[in-house]
Amino acid sequence: MNEYDSGRIYDITKKINYKKTENLKEADCYILNTCHIREKATDKVYHDVGRIKKEFRDEKKPIVIITGCVAQAEGEILLKREKYIDAVIGPQSYHQINDVILNLEKNLNKINSTEFDVIEKFDTLNYVKNSDTNVSSFLTIQEGCDKFCKFCVVPYTRGVEYSRSIKDLVNEARQLVANGSREITLLGQNVNAYNFEKKKLSDLIFKLSEIDNLKRIRYTTSHPKDFTDDLIQAHKNCEKLMPLIHLPVQSGSNKILQNMNRKHTVEEYLKIIERLQEVKPNIRLSSDFIIGYPGETQSDFDQTLKLMKKVKFINTYSFIFSARPGTPAFNLQKIEEKSAKERLDIFQHLAKKIKSEYREKFLEKIVPVLFENSTKDENKYFGRDEHFNSVIVESNENLTGKIKNIQITKLNQNTLFGKISTKLVQRNFAA
Ligand code: SF4
Repeated sequence: MNEYDSGRIYDITKKINYKKTENLKEADCYILNTCHIREKATDKVYHDVGRIKKEFRDEKKPIVIITGCVAQAEGEILLKREKYIDAVIGPQSYHQINDVILNLEKNLNKINSTEFDVIEKFDTLNYVKNSDTNVSSFLTIQEGCDKFCKFCVVPYTRGVEYSRSIKDLVNEARQLVANGSREITLLGQNVNAYNFEKKKLSDLIFKLSEIDNLKRIRYTTSHPKDFTDDLIQAHKNCEKLMPLIHLPVQSGSNKILQNMNRKHTVEEYLKIIERLQEVKPNIRLSSDFIIGYPGETQSDFDQTLKLMKKVKFINTYSFIFSARPGTPAFNLQKIEEKSAKERLDIFQHLAKKIKSEYREKFLEKIVPVLFENSTKDENKYFGRDEHFNSVIVESNENLTGKIKNIQITKLNQNTLFGKISTKLVQRNFAA
């Protein structure tokens, strides 16, 4: 979502004649868009500001603005502790960035803009053309979260759930497709909680699928609690909807899920997968795991391993529990660090093994790939298959923006390599 926000911030600042530079020394204004989800995010801000300070030691200071969730969470503290920072702007206030910059150009006071104006933000953004020209683009459809998992900062930094209107989203999607986008990933902290005047995520997906040159639709990140039947049926009935779902589970133990306030059980989670696989046999899952959550015993951890072996997630993002200030889990008694690290190692080793076994089955298979760009070596093109695996192919034809059937001939841990195939794709192939 920060990538989407950064693009929109850029679109807004173009209106007051700012443009991007790759050369830090050239910058009149430096905007650091931050994420607060992991520990040390605030330290990174001070570190990056220190780097800018050093660059500009003997020169005119650029305007320095911190946006995003660290700005929201730390606000005034950032301004007080690091005088080089001129303004902090929260993720729901960045539509005001031009006023902030214009005021700072006039040397006015430091600015703290961290109100929750999500409606006003999108009302403003709807009138700013999205200039993203990527083949695969992001589109924020929903923000905020009402779930209040005990470890998570999102409800405090992004606020309560808010969904944009279908009309505005179709307009923005049409702009992206006119710019060259062929795949759109719909974004939301709780994307399947999307609800605008009783229209759900599945309604939006079907509406967007009517856009001719839009070839693929994805969405992230979902919550099991909001995985309703209409969304499951959309995977059966919407050809453009890709068969990979990122569905965070966090733990395989019901006791830990309850302690986290996750609002679902392992059994409910597995039921969703079963129903998805009934309607779309080639569907695959990726997930997030927190290892060593306070109170996690060896038996809880074993249940997480069991879940991993059962579902065989093709991608996982796993971290040791990190206590975020301001969340209810912050003061909980942590488990011994050594055990947490050992468990993470065991988990990641298993995840890697499952991923390797999954990938090995690709050899000689044919998969449809949407190509996003050429690599540094201009005759090679980078794209992704339906399950979001990276694929590289050599070609004299410009493949950017095209979908080709690719026969996989080689692979490594991160990338599949192949050649264009004239054979028909095995549409239901899923390793
Ligand atoms: S559902 Fe996701 S975004 Fe919402 S509180 Fe839980 S972890 Fe955070």
